[in-house]
Amino acid sequence: MTVDLRSDTVTQPTPAMRDAMFAAPLGDDVYGDDPSVNALQDKLAALLGFEAALFMPTGTQSNLCAILAHCQRGDEYIVGQMAHTYRWEGGGAAVLGSVQPQPLNHQPDGSLALADIEAAIKPDDAHFARTRLLALENTWGGKLQPFSYVQAATDLARSKGLARHLDGARLFNAAVAQAAERGTDAYAEAKAIAQCFDSVSVCFSKGLGAPVGSALCGSKELIARAVRLRKMAGGGMRQAGFLAAAASYALDHHVRRLADDHALARRLADGLAGIDGLVVEAPQTNIVFVDLEGAARARANDLLAHLAAHGVRGNGLYRLRFVTHLDVDAVGVDHAVASIRQFFANAA
Ligand SMILES: *Cc1c(COP(=O)(O)O)cnc(C)c1O
Repeated sequence: MTVDLRSDTVTQPTPAMRDAMFAAPLGDDVYGDDPSVNALQDKLAALLGFEAALFMPTGTQSNLCAILAHCQRGDEYIVGQMAHTYRWEGGGAAVLGSVQPQPLNHQPDGSLALADIEAAIKPDDAHFARTRLLALENTWGGKLQPFSYVQAATDLARSKGLARHLDGARLFNAAVAQAAERGTDAYAEAKAIAQCFDSVSVCFSKGLGAPVGSALCGSKELIARAVRLRKMAGGGMRQAGFLAAAASYALDHHVRRLADDHALARRLADGLAGIDGLVVEAPQTNIVFVDLEGAARARANDLLAHLAAHGVRGNGLYRLRFVTHLDVDAVGVDHAVASIRQFFANAA
């Protein structure tokens, strides 16, 4: 048995999603002619309350186009030290856009302290880069960012004249978790979060289970700039309707079911509770972090070999990351738990 918990990017399109892909009407999207791409963009923009949306090959390109659409050379954006847009995207905004990041340390819940944001905003002075943009991420490391914080941080940014971008690669995981907390609707929460921002990037290739694709939402004017930037970045995709149809199917059918992934993450965390040497973070969405401490650290490589031999895949060494998704079920999670328990029961 194989249980791939490395990431929610590893899913295979379902049979129904494949049917939707094959049935998709196609055109040349660089001419704006692909009806399936246009339908997806319109659907997402309406869902999140924006004027326009733009289909992208990856979340990295979507975030890059957003930052470059908001900022000019010599501008800077405020961002978390461990944010994807800063840490995990090859420094693209700096390399390709001459946009300087101003990274800030995270609070334990992933947020940026409002006082830190305010202190990082530079006055208009020839010594400084022009602070133009605040970029947040939700979920961050699987953590739902408290809605009151999202509102306060984006209000602060607006009051200081900054634009606001959300890396919402897992926006719908955040929305489902927030809806569960507040007893509301996941789609409504996605829109409520998105409306705090001037632009939002969403991934279809993560928990939503599409094979490829992300999209950027914003005003018509911002998206017009992003179209040119996407072209420059090589992201004009022609008959991309095959992919857009998968994303569209996922938006209709795979949002509410993210609650199942969240329940499985809790099942995994609960199953691992109480093992000597493991510190399990209680998951808020679909990502479980497990720290190895003390004697368990010395056995980290052996643990990975044991898990590989039992078909269980995760990320990390001393800090393990397990992600639940569409292609994992309770049987798989229980197999992962049993394999890890067996390792620690055998010979210390
Ligand atoms: C996955 C991810 C992205 C985009 O990644 P791509 O692999 O380029 O699609 C952006 N931000 C976050 C937080 C992510 O998890």
